[in-house]
Amino acid sequence: MKIHDKEFEIFIAHEELQEKIAITAAEINMDYHDKEVHFISILNGAFMFSADLFKNITVPCYMHFLKVRSYEGTQSSGAVSNIIGLTDSMEHKHVIILEDIVDTGATMQHVYREIAKLNPASIKVASLLLKPDAYGGDIKINYLCYSIPNKFVLGYGLDYDGLGRNLKDIYQLKS
Ligand code: 5GP
Repeated sequence: MKIHDKEFEIFIAHEELQEKIAITAAEINMDYHDKEVHFISILNGAFMFSADLFKNITVPCYMHFLKVRSYEGTQSSGAVSNIIGLTDSMEHKHVIILEDIVDTGATMQHVYREIAKLNPASIKVASLLLKPDAYGGDIKINYLCYSIPNKFVLGYGLDYDGLGRNLKDIYQLKS
């Protein structure tokens, strides 16, 4: 499949994603069985993962959104800027940050530090994908659906210069 100038091939099918996300949600339901959870979804990419995970959560839960940007084309730029911030207080709340993909870890590190300043009761991280070969951060990814090779992916919320977010499956750049 061609998006802009690049060829992509199917990598993880929608049904498989749904099964894995349900398993991750079950872990969260177990760990937070006596708590309320405040999810903070990192826009844009995490919106589909956040929605599907959220539908499987059975403990009392809230969803918040934070918009950041660090990618240009198919390369992580390393510089992260907040575009839309949080409007609700996170003080003494149990927070789970939701990311679509952790690549170099710069975005996660930035968001984690910003949220830590808000004095929450706890912070954990859930990510759909992690590229362990690119990850240089020290923040633990507490809930992870897939570790993937260091190749550009798109679909299921993830884009290539704006396109591809609507795809139900995850695709990988053809080598
Ligand atoms: P990091 O700051 O960890 O290098 O990159 C994290 C952000 O870059 C993610 O939230 C995501 O938006 C974007 N990103 C990282 N890797 C990929 C990728 O393979 N494909 C796409 N579409 N976006 C990526």
